[in-house]
Amino acid sequence: MAAQVIDGRQLAAELRAEVGREVAALRARGRVPGLTVVLVGDDPASHIYTRNKQKVAEELGFRSERIDLPATTSREELLELIHRLNADPEVHGILVQLPLPPHLDEAEVIEQIDPRKDVDGFHPVNVGRLWSGQPCLAPCTPAGILYMLRRVGVDPAGKRAVVVGRSNIVGKPMAALLLRANATVTICHSRTQDLPAVCREADILVVAVGRPEMVTAEYVKPGAVVIDVGINPVPGTKNKLVGDVHFPSVREVAGYITPVPGGVGPLTIAQLMKNTLEAAKAFWGLAN
Ligand code: NDP
Repeated sequence: MAAQVIDGRQLAAELRAEVGREVAALRARGRVPGLTVVLVGDDPASHIYTRNKQKVAEELGFRSERIDLPATTSREELLELIHRLNADPEVHGILVQLPLPPHLDEAEVIEQIDPRKDVDGFHPVNVGRLWSGQPCLAPCTPAGILYMLRRVGVDPAGKRAVVVGRSNIVGKPMAALLLRANATVTICHSRTQDLPAVCREADILVVAVGRPEMVTAEYVKPGAVVIDVGINPVPGTKNKLVGDVHFPSVREVAGYITPVPGGVGPLTIAQLMKNTLEAAKAFWGLAN
């Protein structure tokens, strides 16, 4: 039987609605959560991403601001801006869109963000808190995937989870979140030997490698949950995208599968809104 296709757009709409209701309730009490997105330079993809984030934030009732800086912005100018935003009580979430122009050190810039406002979850304090099981702001893509698993009724506890990819943005935090959710976790990467055999052990297989349709049916245990994080443009087409999973063949083997587009992607922005809401609530001492 073909896998159940997880509708990321629908789940993201539900998460956004949940966040929007909470924002409305806070606003009714005179409190407005605020997100500031900082964009340095004119990378076209970054422009689209930041515009989308800003649009969703506005729709949900956040105070939403985008600060555009030229590609020539100096280290000192950018750090000064971040320090100003750290001190601004109306700003609860700060997101510096990556990649930064090459003369700016991304790690240094991220470290200057107040960890309580680091809604991307990339600050070393949040990374450490994530791995040590403390409350934290977790990176949006993996946190969105965990929300997705919960919503389709997949509890990672006790399951074998395999994460393919070890980036700081997706692979590593995904593994940390699955471990926190009591899965038995394996992290794979470009040096992993016999990747298909390792993947076939997975009850939950998360693929974040950036290689179009690399994972085929031979990587997948029958009935497994397959989460495809990849976003790969198809050369020679205008806007067509494929994931890292070969959807047509894997669909025949898996129990659940996420499509590309319309799977993980929409959850990422919704989770950013959730992180910003949580950061604001913590700022006001209203955290859960
Ligand atoms: P990175 O390029 O930072 O990391 C890719 C990882 O995949 C690396 O750990 C690399 O291993 C591993 N890898 C590469 N080739 C292979 C291979 N042949 N076999 C096994 N492992 C391999 O990518 P990201 O994590 O940033 O992104 C991954 C994908 O997810 C991309 O397509 C990206 O566009 C997409 N993405 C989607 C998001 C969403 O919202 N849906 C958000 C973020 C990313 P090694 O470390 O050894 O080099």
